[in-house]
Amino acid sequence: MDAASVKRCIREAILKRGFNGACGVASFSDVYNDLMPVQRKEVARICGNSLSVLLSRGSVISIAVFHTENAIKSINVTRDGRVDYEKWNFYADEYNLLNSVLNDVCAQLASVLDGVPLRATSELGKKVRSVEEYYPFAKISHRVVAEHAGIGARGRNELIVTKQNGSAVRLNSFITPRKLDRDKKGKDLCDDCRACLDSCRILLKKEQLPNYRQQCMQKINGLNLRYSVCGICLKACYENGSWRKISEQKADFIMQK
Ligand code: SF4
Ligand code: SF4
Repeated sequence: MDAASVKRCIREAILKRGFNGACGVASFSDVYNDLMPVQRKEVARICGNSLSVLLSRGSVISIAVFHTENAIKSINVTRDGRVDYEKWNFYADEYNLLNSVLNDVCAQLASVLDGVPLRATSELGKKVRSVEEYYPFAKISHRVVAEHAGIGARGRNELIVTKQNGSAVRLNSFITPRKLDRDKKGKDLCDDCRACLDSCRILLKKEQLPNYRQQCMQKINGLNLRYSVCGICLKACYENGSWRKISEQKADFIMQK
């Protein structure tokens, strides 16, 4: 199976489950070398004796499924002056559903391609007490994989910003010993935009805080939604981020060339 067939298979599997998405291929060694040491150790443990083969020619496939506009619109909505948490749970439920879709698609891929299906990051907020505990639990950074596989680039909200749906995207990864054609790294779509920073005081002060992720995790847990999510900075990006304009400009530029 070549990269084009793998991608066709993934896109069909996502569409069949009622969502839109994207996928890309990265070199295993590029991803591995970019992981935090604690995650590199976890990935080495998962790969076992196959690690040296993977480092010499293996690939990692990034799978992305996009949130729907209806779910994004349900985030942090007020009614009669109060936050409507039940409405917000519509986004939380979709987050959980997208994780299941990603895990199903990865399992389906494992039935046609040799390799290791990973799991979408979910529900860790309730299982771990600190972000330090989170990193090994999460096994791999799906964001690092997505950057290398051209799905998008890291935005100011630290999420992956895609040209199709901003940062309203969930990710999963599949490790394979096959040497598939690689995609180019994703391009920055933030430019001078600050929409996400203006939506969240924690994010705005991330450079000054010792570990802003810890505060983010506490805020998420404090919301007490059905799943461990917030989504405010994701919504700000989807609705007001520069990614839409910059992607259109890049597309125009390519067409004019
Ligand atoms: S998820 Fe929520 S708390 Fe965390 S950075 Fe985004 S807006 Fe802030
Ligand atoms: S809101 Fe703007 S700055 Fe923030 S991630 Fe999205 S495009 Fe980048």
